[in-house]
Amino acid sequence: MMEESIYVAGHRGLAGSAVLRLLQRMGHARVITASRQQLDLTVQSDVNTFFEARRPSQVVLAAATVGGILANAERPADFIRDNLAIQNNVIDACFRHGVRKLVFLGSSCIYPKFAPQPIPESALLTGALEPTNEAYAIAKIAGIKTCAAYNRQHGTNYLSLMPTNLYGPGDNYDPRGSHVLPALIRRAHEARVSGQSELVVWGSGTPRRELMHVDDLASACVFALERLNASDIGECINVGTGIDLTICEIAETVMQAVGYRGRIVFDTSKPDGTPRKVLDVSALRRLGWNARIALQDGIPSAYQDFLARYAKPDTTARPI
Ligand code: GDP
Repeated sequence: MMEESIYVAGHRGLAGSAVLRLLQRMGHARVITASRQQLDLTVQSDVNTFFEARRPSQVVLAAATVGGILANAERPADFIRDNLAIQNNVIDACFRHGVRKLVFLGSSCIYPKFAPQPIPESALLTGALEPTNEAYAIAKIAGIKTCAAYNRQHGTNYLSLMPTNLYGPGDNYDPRGSHVLPALIRRAHEARVSGQSELVVWGSGTPRRELMHVDDLASACVFALERLNASDIGECINVGTGIDLTICEIAETVMQAVGYRGRIVFDTSKPDGTPRKVLDVSALRRLGWNARIALQDGIPSAYQDFLARYAKPDTTARPI
């Protein structure tokens, strides 16, 4: 049988680039990509023209407008508009052009702010969302429901994967836009290089977050492409490590990886966000998939990526 062609939407982003890297490492010869200049996924007619021309048989939808707690708070209109448009266009194009399997990526922030911990998939739509990322979460919930509706009405095979907070090569290190891990990697690095005695950490340091290396997500996506069907799972399935740490512990792990020995201070003018969000990963585990990359191994490799892309390796500064 001829190898399937796979369109990775969002191949320049954190998640999409990891999926692309893994498919290439596996020697997959028929991977389709399009840069933002070549294809604007928010324009429906362009998306249909692209699918008509390229005819992918499988699609990983990793394209999204994403960001950390502050970006979500400052630009909710961008987050809801872009994500609704992108997923609506891509999901419908998959149906119109006979895509055999779609893997849609959501996020753990779709669950209620005070969901039971670890959060099972059944917690979806059982309570109010965390206000700091409500616009993004509503868009992603709509994506899950869109996939489920197409499956129900048209018998399609669209799977919604809900990854926990991700980090790794290709992350966004912009101080106002980024998530906690890349933000702390950058700030700890800069604090070390400039000899500062304090590392500023937003919020109270007490919220707990589960962090997963993006190569683990890529492995889950390939597992889903090869082995899962919509009928094996409910409307969505969690992808995570099942392990969480406080923001303070995460900051300490980053400091160790970066070799920075200053003091942590908390900027409580910044929001904490949801107190805890660790995923119940038992459903995917039962189906045969597990995360493999421990945080202690993942953070140093993320720091190397930061150094390679953003910072000149520092040879002069002394650790304080
Ligand atoms: P969230 O998981 O959607 O809340 O998004 P983030 O990854 O942006 O934030 C996670 C937690 O880390 C929140 O409690 C933040 O207040 C905290 N945090 C601590 N320092 C930082 C930072 O420098 N940047 C960001 N984005 N979050 C930080």
